[in-house]
Amino acid sequence: MKPPKFRYVAPRSLDDAVEHLASDPDAKVLAGGQSLMPLLAMRLAAPSILVDLQHVSGLDDIEDQGTSLLIGARVTHREIERSAMVAERLPILSSAVVHIAHPQIRSRGTFGGSTAHADPSGEWPTILLSLGATMRTVSPRGRRTIEADDFFVGPFTSTLAEDEILTHVSVPTTRTAWSFQEAAVKKGDYGLALVAATGTARDGVLLDPRVTVGAAVGSVRRVAEVERLLTETPLTEGLADEAAVTAAASIDPISDIHGNSEYRRKLVASLVRRAVIELMNGA
Ligand SMILES: Cc1cc2nc3c(=O)[nH]c(=O)nc-3n(C[C@H](O)[C@H](O)[C@H](O)COP(=O)(O)OP(=O)(O)OC[C@H]3O[C@@H](n4cnc5c(N)ncnc54)[C@H](O)[C@@H]3O)c2cc1C
Repeated sequence: MKPPKFRYVAPRSLDDAVEHLASDPDAKVLAGGQSLMPLLAMRLAAPSILVDLQHVSGLDDIEDQGTSLLIGARVTHREIERSAMVAERLPILSSAVVHIAHPQIRSRGTFGGSTAHADPSGEWPTILLSLGATMRTVSPRGRRTIEADDFFVGPFTSTLAEDEILTHVSVPTTRTAWSFQEAAVKKGDYGLALVAATGTARDGVLLDPRVTVGAAVGSVRRVAEVERLLTETPLTEGLADEAAVTAAASIDPISDIHGNSEYRRKLVASLVRRAVIELMNGA
């Protein structure tokens, strides 16, 4: 199908992008187009204006800020994959990025686009929630920051306002104990279940764990029951088994043509178990 008619603008500055986006309530940001263009082609979205960010400067860097990496919204998945700085400072991103689609899509799709899209099956939303990232935005009302806990509020729904542009994501590098697990039918497919578990390891225990689930549930979410169980408890295989049972009992998985809720519950349990074992081996 062909997309509905829209006006296209490609501003050179962030100020102009903000102005265009605010000029019409049906205007939308275009980043890599890897989610938005299929939605237009299927006529599931009909924006009046597409505000393309591709020429806006200042959104395409990854900057080391000491205890965090500041990742520009226009940084592509492929740039994350190839970044030596990311591999060294945030290896969880390097380990997860290869699960995102295929190289062609990773070359176009952006970190900011994925985050703003808030797809419950997205690797970045699942991981950013676990790492406790902070989103930086701009709108006609000025700049603001939004914690990941307050950002992902539902399926494909974030707390970004219609006229707000995500400019950067500040991702803490201090959660040095991490595990990312994904179950998919085949490489490059959207996952059926994703689990990210991060924290700080000290003497075989995990401090301040944050455990998140994506894809198997309607919206990316933390699993507080598992986080409580893991907090400052010696990491053992027995704890991994207990965490798996707790995770399975704590979530309300979705059912669709790719897998029913009981299947996804088992997947999540198994991924949580693997994550705890991986954390244990790294602690
Ligand atoms: C075949 C296929 C397989 C895929 N598999 C996966 C997968 O396994 N895992 C995964 O996570 N993703 C997957 N994707 C999606 C891909 O990662 C997209 O790149 C991503 O979801 C959206 O990024 P984008 O830059 O393409 O954003 P776009 O498609 O341009 O935009 C997506 C949405 O976000 C908004 N938006 C974009 N940037 C901003 C911004 N800076 N500020 C405010 N709003 C913004 C847009 O208005 C739009 O609503 C797949 C896509 C395809 C086509």
